[in-house]
Amino acid sequence: MRKQIAAANWKMNKTIEEGIALVKEIINADIKLNKNNEVLFSVPFPYLSTIKDLISSNGYMFVAAQNCHHKKNGAYTGEVSVEMLKSIGIEYCLVGHSERREYFAESNQVIAQKVDLCLELGITPVFCCGEPLEIRDLLSQNQYVSNQLNESLFHLSTEDIKKVIIAYEPIWAIGTGRTASSDQAQEMHAHIRSVLISKYSFEVAEDISILYGGSVKGANANELFSMQDVDGGLVGGASLVASEFIQVIQALK
Ligand code: PEP
Repeated sequence: MRKQIAAANWKMNKTIEEGIALVKEIINADIKLNKNNEVLFSVPFPYLSTIKDLISSNGYMFVAAQNCHHKKNGAYTGEVSVEMLKSIGIEYCLVGHSERREYFAESNQVIAQKVDLCLELGITPVFCCGEPLEIRDLLSQNQYVSNQLNESLFHLSTEDIKKVIIAYEPIWAIGTGRTASSDQAQEMHAHIRSVLISKYSFEVAEDISILYGGSVKGANANELFSMQDVDGGLVGGASLVASEFIQVIQALK
């Protein structure tokens, strides 16, 4: 049974004091979860260990890095390697977020290298994909996302693809307040699962969690997460407000 996941993405927000206060409020909330529910906090690099320590006694919350470098190590001033993340006990890493693709020119090929390094060191990549508005307007979103999957993930073995979490995030819905409708989200998630079936198998596709991201908040999480192929969400803005993110967590199937 695939996991249902609420993943926070703080991006470049919060001081450490604010971050600790936010996580404490979420930990202390009386949240009822199922055995297959998980909560991830994708926090800035300097906070990873602190937030990890804060949630470590809690079996269903984990910390994720927001990025990693695509080379193992070397002269890349200011960058953080997968090995460094592993050495401080990080188990998840966002890979290929649309903001990384847009502002740091990350290609599908570079993202494939990041996925490979994460898997090599036992870190679960949360692979982000999704189309810009002009592609949606041309009704080419299925082909666009298939190409992202093909170029960054489909070289993986059956064993490895099962370790990946996919986050579908239409770029036109990120940070815009404009959410995909639950039908639009379901349609794309079903498409992604069908592509996974064609490339791998029904059993493999059924096991992979596909999160939706793009202006998820307390008020729309229930409807989005109730869709058959939506296995939770990757949440930016609303994950910075405890009461909002708590509602999102509670909406998990
Ligand atoms: C994100 O950062 O991945 C995201 C979906 O942001 P927001 O929820 O603010 O749209």
